[in-house]
Amino acid sequence: MPKFTNPIDIARETFKQLAARRIAPTPENYQRLYHEIAGTAPEDSGEFEKALITAFQSAGRGNPQINNVSKDIVQSLELRDWKAFTRHIEAMGAQKRLEQTGWADLIRDLIKQWDLKQKGLTTARKKEALERVLINFGKNADELLNKLRSLAKAWSQGASGPADIEVEGGERLEEHSARGVPPDERVGAPPGPLLGAEEVPGMLADLLAQALLHGVMPRIAHFPELATRAADLAAQARNANDLDALNKFSKDIRQFWIELELRADADQEVLDGLLRLLRLLVENVTELLLDDQWLRGQLNIVQEIISQPLTPKMLTETEQRIKEVLFKQGTLKQSLNEAKTSLKNLVTVFISRIGEMSESTGEYHLKIGGYVEKISRTEDLPTINAILQDIIADTKSLHLDMMRSQDELMNARRQAETAEQKMHELEAELGQVSELIYQDHLTGTLNRRGMEEACMREFARAERGQTPVSVALLDVDHFKKLNDTFGHEAGDLALIHLANVVKEILRPVDVVARYGGEEFVILLPDTGATDGVAVITRLQRELTKRYFLHENEKVLITFSAGVAQREEAETIEAILARADAALYRAKQAGRNRVYLAQAGTLH
Ligand code: GH3
Ligand code: MG
Ligand code: MG
Repeated sequence: MPKFTNPIDIARETFKQLAARRIAPTPENYQRLYHEIAGTAPEDSGEFEKALITAFQSAGRGNPQINNVSKDIVQSLELRDWKAFTRHIEAMGAQKRLEQTGWADLIRDLIKQWDLKQKGLTTARKKEALERVLINFGKNADELLNKLRSLAKAWSQGASGPADIEVEGGERLEEHSARGVPPDERVGAPPGPLLGAEEVPGMLADLLAQALLHGVMPRIAHFPELATRAADLAAQARNANDLDALNKFSKDIRQFWIELELRADADQEVLDGLLRLLRLLVENVTELLLDDQWLRGQLNIVQEIISQPLTPKMLTETEQRIKEVLFKQGTLKQSLNEAKTSLKNLVTVFISRIGEMSESTGEYHLKIGGYVEKISRTEDLPTINAILQDIIADTKSLHLDMMRSQDELMNARRQAETAEQKMHELEAELGQVSELIYQDHLTGTLNRRGMEEACMREFARAERGQTPVSVALLDVDHFKKLNDTFGHEAGDLALIHLANVVKEILRPVDVVARYGGEEFVILLPDTGATDGVAVITRLQRELTKRYFLHENEKVLITFSAGVAQREEAETIEAILARADAALYRAKQAGRNRVYLAQAGTLH
């Protein structure tokens, strides 16, 4: 048989031989004969199939979906069912593609990021970014998948989209993941998600819109037309996508700032003007009402408040205190008015009685005049006698009238006196209520303001009388622990207890004031430093004897104190600072002791 090298010749010879040898023209027979003619070794298809079977068996391991398809493939290989084999191979490819692409995971991720509220990222911006990706990459499934993955990742990092989603081809789109280092961890990278240059203006516009909506608008709510403009500008900031829009926006916002500044200036002027007006009013009213004790307290407090920079907290507190005082004064004033009305009624009675008296005496004089005339005209004794009888009767009735009126007048005077006294009492009470402004709610001692008033009064008195005056500053020891152990309410009761003991032990002229949380100031008129220390030490001893009872349990309260005698022309602040320094030393030395302040060190 000649040697064939050309495949076409070999194929032709193969067909000839198949016919000559009468061999059935099956693919296997053709293949075998072909190799025989070509002188080549036939491939061992059995070995090949075996290898395929092993490969597909191992491919399915550990993956149930692939395993099912692999089993089908292996079966079709064993049966040499090539049609089924092709079908199964295609199915496996589809399954693999589905797994590799991870569309399901991606969609889940996108929905999650869509729903999450990322700072500075609105739904509108997300929608815009998503639309851009779909428009640019919608025709290529693999590319679309990648871009959408980058988009989900960018959202998760707070950026509206990867820096370059508008760029066709998307090389920069892979920036986040392809470099292998998360952007936040790159050396020198600023904290937070890395933004593309195109992303920054959008973010800034968004921030500006937010500042206008949440920062500016609530503050200008009382200028509705300006507030509406702020809202419009916020919308304009978000939509300024081209240069023209940006120019218009920048012009509009500059105009807006100017108007806002003008309004703010006007606001401040109104406030200043109101304050000046109030000051003027208070000063004048105070001068007019020198005698009206019950108004003085309120006016003092208003005067004090407006003489310093205003804070909302201070205003609310003052308003609260004045309201309290006004309420109490309101009820007292009603009683006072009633007393005044009854006094007025009495005075009316008084006057009408006097009128009646003068009327009856006037009548009497007229009658007497008539009788005198009658007597002068008659010489007849019985007639004169009769006239005399009349005169006696008239005088008697006048006398009775006078007696009755006098009784009534006395009565009215007594009632008027009672009413007047009641009025005085009520007025005094009003004065005291006004003093409530100077009282501490909890302990009923003076508060800091009251203490300052009392100090000014006593310091002035000491100066006039050339007498000593001392101040003690007390601070309860380990009070925080008492609060922690027994509760804040028990702490409050302990403070009330301490204040009561102080009031009981000290002389009526001594003044006690709550200076702060668990700190008290005691003002000791007519007392020098040594006596002052002695008084406070006695107080300390008494306090150890009079236990504070908490739920029938004896609780010992101690305090540390600093005592200072006022030096010449020393201010309240200075003397308290000296007392405080002594108190500090008492604490340092172990608490529950009274220290004398050093002289003149803290002037
Ligand atoms: P020290 O002996 O050093 O003075 O210790 P302290 O715990 O007394 O001092 P500190 O100043 O640390 O704590 C004071 C505590 O007093 C803190 C605060 O909770 C409490 N306190 C302040 N005002 C009141 C109040 O009106 N009622 C109650 N129950 N506790 C108060
Ligand atoms: Mg303290
Ligand atoms: Mg304390």
